[in-house]
Parts: sequence; structure tokens; C-alpha cells
Amino acid sequence: MSSTPNLRAGFAGLGTMGLGMARNLAAKGFPLSLTNRTMEKAIRLASDLAGGPAPVAALPTPAAVAAASDVVVSCVSDGPDVEEVHLGRNGTIEGARPGTVVVDCSTVDPAVARRVAARLAEKGVAFLDAPVSGGQKGANEGTLSFFVGGEAAALGTARPVLEAMGRRITHLGPSGAGQLGKATNQVIVAGTLAAVSEGMAFAKAAGLPMEAIHAALTGGAANSWALEVLGKKMLDRDFKPAFAIKHQQKDLAIVLRAARANGVPLPAASLVHQLLSSLEAKGRGEEGTQALFTLYEELSR
Ligand code: NAP
Repeated sequence: MSSTPNLRAGFAGLGTMGLGMARNLAAKGFPLSLTNRTMEKAIRLASDLAGGPAPVAALPTPAAVAAASDVVVSCVSDGPDVEEVHLGRNGTIEGARPGTVVVDCSTVDPAVARRVAARLAEKGVAFLDAPVSGGQKGANEGTLSFFVGGEAAALGTARPVLEAMGRRITHLGPSGAGQLGKATNQVIVAGTLAAVSEGMAFAKAAGLPMEAIHAALTGGAANSWALEVLGKKMLDRDFKPAFAIKHQQKDLAIVLRAARANGVPLPAASLVHQLLSSLEAKGRGEEGTQALFTLYEELSR
């Protein structure tokens, strides 16, 4: 591990992803400041982590966390939340100093990343957009893949912090490039979700033994992470969210705006967005994306 004991880390946003990410920072020995909208979560986590390799403190605001940190990481919900945490009242902009590196791991519109980066740059504070892939499992196990946009020098400073939370860190270009990388990931994720849902619904309607066909498929050219993980959940009729439909819809809205801005049609991603809208309209936005399979079932005889 290349972390230096002198690099102080901060974390804002202790949700599904943030909790595991922050735990990994503490486990790797970074002195750590935590904050969250619901402060009880930060206080509870700081108390859980007390007695670990380095001090952990719960602080009331992102500004206080930024003032106490060299690298501040955030992982909140959507664009307005990222702007609030960094540019709002008591946001990191009020506590960061020239040289502080702010890293946002939320999945948001690339335009938000560019806007936050420009405002922080006015104060000499560097901003990296570093959305992640790997889900809650990757966050807990420290195996996330980071798509990074921003200055290479800022990434040089923040790299030990990212290495504590992930396995692959890829610099893709200036501010916004990380979000475009994550959008690319979501285009592919949406397409494979549809392919697996469609294939599994076809096999079921055709009367194939489902466990057997799933096992056969995972041993051949159709295999993918989506087939292995989501296909298995479809078999088990486990529609609990690892990645909720409402989150995929937020991401696909970002993807489709970026596609329009870049003059590229994305027919498969658009179709998946519409199909998932139909599940949302039935009040099923909290279910996992593998519930798309049930829509194909309903469409079948
Ligand atoms: P989550 O469980 O809903 O957690 C969001 C966290 O952000 C919560 O701690 C929430 O505080 C905090 N927050 C939200 N809005 C805020 C605001 N305006 N000000 C301050 N704090 C705020 O979400 P998540 O699943 O961890 O996802 C976080 C980000 O990672 C999203 O952009 C998501 O798209 C992305 N992502 C998620 C996954 C996944 O599998 N879940 C995978 C890859 C990427 P409270 O505790 O008070 O609610």
C-alpha cells in the first residue's frame, strides 16, 4: 500500500457505497473525518472504527471535513446533491485550502462535474470526478473501478486514497471525462441487462430447465457478469436491489443526455430506459434491475 500516514482523508455521504468505502480508508490507516446528511450514521461509523489504526472523527459539515483533510471524497446521490455538498452552504468549498483535492465518486452529469471543478479551481482547490463501478460488493471489498476526470497532478495526490478503495484507477482526461467513462459503462450494463432478461425469458417460455440452461450459458460465449450475477437472481426470483431500477434510470438519463450532446444514437440504452420506466410506473423502482426479467415474462404468453 502506498498510502502515506501524513495524508488525511475525509468522506461525505455514508450510504450504500460510502459506508464500505469509508471503512476501507480507515482500515488502510488514513486519519479520517466523516460527515453525512443524517449525522447519526457518521457518528455511529466513527464509534465503530474507534481503536483502529488511525483516528476517525465525525464532523458536522462537508466544510469541516474539508478543513481537516488533504483529500476529501464524496459519494452522494445526484447532481444537485453533489453541488450542495461541495458548493452549497457549509460545502467543501468553505473549508478546503489551495492544494486540497476533492474527489467525487457519485454518478452525475458530466456538466455538474465541470461546474464544480471550475468553482473549486477559483479557490485553488482541485476536483476529480471519479465515479465507480463494482457496486456495494466492490465498495465493501475495496475492489471498485474508478473512472477519473481532472488534472493528472491532483490524481497523483489522491491516488493512495483511491487505491485504498479500489483495484483499478483509470485517468480518462479532463473534468467530466470520468463521468463520460461511467456513462459508457452504463450503456454496456443496460444492453447486457436487456440481453440476459430477454434470453432467460425466452428459455423459460420455451420450457427449458432453467438451472441447466443458465449453467450451460455461463460456460460459453454468452457469459457475462450480468448473466452470472443477475441471471442467477432471475432464476432465484430474487428481485431485491443490489442496483435499484431508480438508480439505473438516473444513470440512463445522464447517458441519453450525453449521447445527444455528442450526436450519437443509443437505441438499445433508450429501449432499456423505457422498459424500466414501465416497471417504475408500476411502483417497482426500488427493486433491482434484474426485475426487468419479469416484464418480459408479462409480455410472454
Ligand atoms: P445511497 O445509498 O442513497 O446513499 C447516498 C448518500 O448520500 C447518503 O448517505 C445520503 O445521506 C447522502 N446524500 C444524498 N444527498 C445528499 C445531500 N444533498 N447532501 C448531503 N448528503 C447527501 O446511494 P448509493 O447507492 O451509495 O450511491 C451513491 C452514488 O454512487 C450515486 O451517485 C450512485 O449512482 C453511485 N453508484 C451506486 C452504486 C450502487 O450499486 N449502489 C454503484 C455505483 C455507483 P443520508 O444518509 O442522510 O440519506
